[in-house]
Amino acid sequence: RGDSAVADRTVDSVCPYCGVGCQLTYHVKDEPSEANEQRGRILFVEGRDGPSNQGRLCVKGRFGFDYPSHPARLTRPLIRREGVPKGIDPVFDPANPLTHFREADWEEALEFAATGLTELKGKHGPSALAGFGSAKCSNEEAWLFQKLVRTGFGSNHVDHCTRLCHASSVAALMECLGSGAVTASFMQALQSDVVILTGCNPAVNHPVAATYFKQAARNGTKLIIIDPRGQALDAYAWRSLRFSPGGDVSLFNAMLNVIISEGLFDKAYIDAHTEGFEALAASVADMTPEAMSPICGVEPEAIREVARAYAGAERAMIFWGMGISQHVHGTDNARCLISMALTCGHTGRPGTGLHPLRGQNNVQGASDAGLIPMVLPDYQPVGDAQLRAAFEELWNTELDPEPGLTVVEIMDAIAAGTIKGMYILGENPAMSDPDLTHARAALAALEHLVVQDLFVTETAQFADVILPATAWSEKSGTVTNTNRQVQMGRAALPPPGEAKADWWIIQEMAQRFGLGWNYAGPEQVFAEMKQGMHSLDHISWSRLEREGSVTYPCPADDAPGQDVVFSDAFPRAGGRAKLSPTQPLPPDEPVDEAYPIVLTTGRLLEHWHTGAMTRRSRVLDEREPEAAAYLAPAELDRLGVAPGDALLVATRRGSITLTARADQAMPDGMVFIPFAFAEAAANLLTNPALDPYGKIPEFKYAACRLSPA
Ligand code: SF4
Repeated sequence: RGDSAVADRTVDSVCPYCGVGCQLTYHVKDEPSEANEQRGRILFVEGRDGPSNQGRLCVKGRFGFDYPSHPARLTRPLIRREGVPKGIDPVFDPANPLTHFREADWEEALEFAATGLTELKGKHGPSALAGFGSAKCSNEEAWLFQKLVRTGFGSNHVDHCTRLCHASSVAALMECLGSGAVTASFMQALQSDVVILTGCNPAVNHPVAATYFKQAARNGTKLIIIDPRGQALDAYAWRSLRFSPGGDVSLFNAMLNVIISEGLFDKAYIDAHTEGFEALAASVADMTPEAMSPICGVEPEAIREVARAYAGAERAMIFWGMGISQHVHGTDNARCLISMALTCGHTGRPGTGLHPLRGQNNVQGASDAGLIPMVLPDYQPVGDAQLRAAFEELWNTELDPEPGLTVVEIMDAIAAGTIKGMYILGENPAMSDPDLTHARAALAALEHLVVQDLFVTETAQFADVILPATAWSEKSGTVTNTNRQVQMGRAALPPPGEAKADWWIIQEMAQRFGLGWNYAGPEQVFAEMKQGMHSLDHISWSRLEREGSVTYPCPADDAPGQDVVFSDAFPRAGGRAKLSPTQPLPPDEPVDEAYPIVLTTGRLLEHWHTGAMTRRSRVLDEREPEAAAYLAPAELDRLGVAPGDALLVATRRGSITLTARADQAMPDGMVFIPFAFAEAAANLLTNPALDPYGKIPEFKYAACRLSPA
């Protein structure tokens, strides 16, 4: 706090990390120096009184602000040197990229980037190109990127990391409720009698949201945690159910069986607001707790107890994370949770609702803005001629009616030789895709790859040209958090060197595709978004400047947005929600004698996504610098491995060596590995099998074997 006396100014913005969307203030010193490239520096960060954080920040928001000034930051465009092979070179130093790339000016780099793609389009057609946008960019940048792919490249091959986190949740919510967003904010938990947290670890992944759950529990809310792993919030839980990995659909169907067979459902709500109850009841009739217990590993009485508590509550909510979504049965998992809420009438009122906790700071907004291959902005299916016509009129061009390929499908299409050129903005598939050996081989096979990022990421090591972009604290624009709150971010510093705003770079690329764009900045882009997205009705740029945050849907220019939605009807034909029955399915790759341990992956409190930002943040990386594998102490004993020893983890796709750590929260027979460490990339091991609806890979279950290294 001593620094506050010497800050020259403050800038109000939003945290660049998780979907909680904490509002914060940058305290900036404008004093130039050689080290900070004449642009000043952020001294420290404080939480603001935002609607989702009320002044609070976690360690990432408070200390993870210095990565934009890391020595490896890109400040000039780079073009690959002749003859340097594409791929991860173990001796490559991202802070000294001129061994593999040469510097170029913007004109040369943009011409080279665009010409490579336009030539491939001319030779092979629109389907030869694809784009990955980013949930770390603003809504305006997401809008421009998907518009470039759809109107410039000429296909719908555009996707982003939602495919790897909540695509299955969105598929189920769209099918059953007609809307892919949360039905109530996480602050509503304070008004709930019962809160279920399943497949999520908020104290690690949504830490400020976790403070609301703790507060609710202290006020008397019954917190029910359902997960194979233990977690810090167990200390606040009324009940914690630890089920067998992959047994979630069995467990949820058993809970539905209890709710229906014991008559605990809300008949009036079901009659008024849903369809498909009879089919659901028939589907779960035989899935009694006794029948499902051997599969899910939870005692029948424990299943009955939590089902009765949830159904019997006056107000109850369900929150879930990627432990639910990242399975081949991820959509079925979410369908089950939706069915539980609907049969009990736990939506549409304060303290009730369904809430998939969104991962990245703008994954909700990037999805809303259309960075999804099968839907246009606001989830309008590309195959619907009438809905498509509205965008064709707005953009004055014809659009492809065929849904595009998803993240993993694009990698497969490159391997099959049908996609030949890509533009990747702020994503890192060379770390985040499953089965990285396959994904990296695909990236290397691209005839032309344009990467736009802050650093020479693992993906940029495959690029033909790298365009230096702008960090969150250097840009202004809007983002939408997990609560549907559209929030204003503001630039605290100019970008370093010749790095440019992302919206500007996308526009320059679009101009070279003959699109003639001439936006003056994000405000003008936002104005165009409002013409295509009814979700932004009554939310103007000036209102966001003034108020900082407005929740959608919003009924009037001077009214607050709706924190809780679907009180009267659902946005489906007839206004009714759908109850969608499910059947338990085994994991795609069950454990066996050769690979007897379940591998699961995820994040750490200090590290986020593939580590491109947090590994370059001094405090965060000093706190958690090491790639580790987390196991139950008994499992380590069985292996003869002590904490701190090197451990080899192998699956059918590859092997990595990490440091073993004892973790009391891990069940026997399971290992957890974070995916933020390039030196031991967890996704060399993971299974690329996809959920058939959401097309999300099964990151939460792969069969592996462990041995001392
Ligand atoms: Fe940032 Fe999420 Fe932490 Fe809030 S909880 S400070 S949004 S990382």
